Amino acid sequence: MWAALKFCILALVTLALAWWLAGLPGTVNADTGVYQISAPTPVALLLVLALVGLLVVFFRVLGGLRRAPGRFLGWREQRRTQAGELALQRGLVAVAAGDTSGAKAASAKARTLLGDTAFVQWLTAETARLSGQGEQARLAYERLTHSRELKFLGHQGLLRESLRAGQDDEAAHHAEAAEAAYPGGAWTRAQRLALAVRAQNYAAAMRLTRAPQERAALAVAAAETTRSPKLALDFARQAVKANPASPVTLTALARALRAAGKERAARKALLQGWKQVPHQLLAAAWLAPVATQLGRAQAAALLAAENPGHMESELVLAETALAAQLTGEARRHAEAALQAGNRDGRAAAILAALEGKPAPAITPAWRCTSCQAQLPNWSCACPVCGKIGTLGINKSGMALTTTGNGSE
Ligand SMILES: [Zn+2]
Repeated sequence: MWAALKFCILALVTLALAWWLAGLPGTVNADTGVYQISAPTPVALLLVLALVGLLVVFFRVLGGLRRAPGRFLGWREQRRTQAGELALQRGLVAVAAGDTSGAKAASAKARTLLGDTAFVQWLTAETARLSGQGEQARLAYERLTHSRELKFLGHQGLLRESLRAGQDDEAAHHAEAAEAAYPGGAWTRAQRLALAVRAQNYAAAMRLTRAPQERAALAVAAAETTRSPKLALDFARQAVKANPASPVTLTALARALRAAGKERAARKALLQGWKQVPHQLLAAAWLAPVATQLGRAQAAALLAAENPGHMESELVLAETALAAQLTGEARRHAEAALQAGNRDGRAAAILAALEGKPAPAITPAWRCTSCQAQLPNWSCACPVCGKIGTLGINKSGMALTTTGNGSE
């Protein structure tokens, strides 16, 4: 509607102008000496307008011609960049797919088309890593650490290469640099944590995690490795605070108390622990200071009284009785342990020893909740998968029912 109205107004104005132009009186004369031109005023005015129009068109064409080479170069540059980016994308996929030759071709093409940009450097490094050219990968990652945006990827690559080469100190240095380049990253935290554990720097490792299971395991390891009894006690208390219902943390606390000269507190902690989570670790710590076999059997009776009838109570009674050659007692308690559901072979082994038969295999006491590996001894980090605080009591050796004789 508005467009139609605009068109009508424009047509009217043009018509009025033409009318006015046609109605102009007189003539315009031009005299160059040789030629004489004479034209009516409207025609002369139209000629001047046409000339101005022609000049405008001429200059436009001239400008266009002047800009043409620049435009062509820009177009070519754009095509080059697009092809380079495509090569980068293909390289990225080839690296992810583990296709060495594809990654090599894409990386070479990207370098030719885009030059030595940070992203190209990263692709070059990843390609070298994929092809097993460690030194070349290292150099490329090293160059990448000078990039403002991709610095983290440079240190990440160098960290991995250092770990592969078994250079833990170098790896720790790059882990710190990676943290500085990209603070608070979960990947970097996990690497720093693993490195601190490998260096047995458990106190530093504890500062890197808030997960209670991890903190408890690290605190136990810290308590076990520190030379200062005071510090050990402090770590052990932190361990119990992080995981109060664990035989590992409770045993660590008892040991630290004992090392600090607090024997009564240590015994109290073990008796309370036995009430809460009876376990062979607590029993071992309870019996450790007792020298004679008969004394150990008597001490076991004190401990078992805290949780009478429990499978672990029966086992500690049976084991100490066997060692003290109280064979009747040993048999009675081993059978009671079987009745209470023991299936890990410990009760069966006592009975076998009493009967002079070969001992059955005993199920490892610990199981990793992450990789399910079964292990005879507890450790802060799983020796199979490296996860921290994942070793828990192996329940596969403990049947829930109380039937059967546990002869496996
Ligand atoms: Zn594991």
